[in-house]
Amino acid sequence: MSKKRLRIAIQKSGRLSESSVQILRGCGIEFGNGLGKLRSSARNFPVEILFLRDDDIPQYVEDGVADAGIVGENVVLEKGFKVETALRLGFGRCRLSLAAPKQFAYEGTGDLEGLRIATSYPKILSGFLERHSIDAEIHTISGSVEIAPSIGLADIVCDLVSSGSTLFTNGLKEIETVLESEALLIRRSSLESDLEVLFEKLCFRIRAGIEAEKNKYVLLNAPNDKIGRIVDLLPGMRSPSVLPLAETGWSSVHSVIAEDDFWEVVENLRAEGAEGILVLSIDQMVI
Ligand code: ATP
Ligand code: ZN
Repeated sequence: MSKKRLRIAIQKSGRLSESSVQILRGCGIEFGNGLGKLRSSARNFPVEILFLRDDDIPQYVEDGVADAGIVGENVVLEKGFKVETALRLGFGRCRLSLAAPKQFAYEGTGDLEGLRIATSYPKILSGFLERHSIDAEIHTISGSVEIAPSIGLADIVCDLVSSGSTLFTNGLKEIETVLESEALLIRRSSLESDLEVLFEKLCFRIRAGIEAEKNKYVLLNAPNDKIGRIVDLLPGMRSPSVLPLAETGWSSVHSVIAEDDFWEVVENLRAEGAEGILVLSIDQMVI
């Protein structure tokens, strides 16, 4: 194995930290949690984890201080550094949205003309305004964007939203989605060949973890005359496995179903005569 270590930057403390650590540990990489530390070397895989502010990650990846990083798409697009997206990671989901005071009667993007908009995302916002041919004034502020209208600094805001509760507390309502964002695994475009091999290995493992999370393993028993209908309800990776039970006339069916619709599938299976249904989480899924 190469002596070189792949350096991966993740957020030190914030909304992405815990899931970033989990996704790497889910790949079987063991490392300390970075409390009070800037870096941590994995014990069993040639990677070094760098714990940084999320805003700095794209630049460090472009500059080669880190080879790869986990960061929100919103930050990657706003910073505009030359990095490549290797994987969409499915966590850290949020929207960059325009939000206006509750009483604002919004009918369409034309109503944005001439407004003062406070944001920490001037680059993404100006792209949006340009695409909609809107001339508005962007006020860039670095934090607490949601209070800008109430202190008279702006008419509306463009800010990150997940549940919308912060907006609501500040008397604002979402009027337009500018960007849907999630955490990305980014990388430097040119990696030396041994680092490239390590990076590919890492991506392979992360993908297996992501697929596993999207699916459940289901086992059930059913009388043989019901198997046909039950199998039709179960797509499986190729097709479900059907194994005879010790009791004559009965079989056990094993399959993989999508997490999103597993309750519905389980209800339908029961209705078709399935018994003893077990639904298990999957650790890794290599497809
Ligand atoms: P740092 O100190 O590292 O700069 P931060 O305060 O900029 O931290 P966080 O609030 O931890 O960052 O958010 C990190 C990322 O989490 C955001 O860039 C975004 O991609 C994602 N995120 C998900 N939901 C939200 C949300 N409701 N508000 C803000 N960010 C969110
Ligand atoms: Zn930040």
